[in-house]
Amino acid sequence: MTIGKFAAALTCMDGRPMQAIIDWAKKERGADFVDMITAAGMDKVLATKKPEQYKKMLRISIKHHRAKTVLIVGHQDCAGNPVKQEQHEKDIKKAKKVAEKWLKDFEAKIPVFGLYVEEKNGKWQVAKII
Ligand SMILES: [Zn+2]
Repeated sequence: MTIGKFAAALTCMDGRPMQAIIDWAKKERGADFVDMITAAGMDKVLATKKPEQYKKMLRISIKHHRAKTVLIVGHQDCAGNPVKQEQHEKDIKKAKKVAEKWLKDFEAKIPVFGLYVEEKNGKWQVAKII
């Protein structure tokens, strides 16, 4: 079975930004598939709590799917992290550090990108924050 190239996204459970994240990972990182590791307001969850369950899920994505990119995603109008874009960007930067620490624990040298997704002209679009 051809497995394909994976990226892993630590993102919100909100369905609206999903397609934009997948499209970005395909276009910018050559991914065929994106493993979605979700929580309500994931950027804040990672920045403040660093929960082990998501570390476990990321490990599966890296070890079993050989994910080559990790994405940390925050988005506009987030019910799980209802803050302004500036705070999302701060949370995304903190969350990126958490993910990088986890990758170090896995001995995986994989780039981590922080993305913010917002609706512009009726379309969800990705901006790379870091
Ligand atoms: Zn959200």
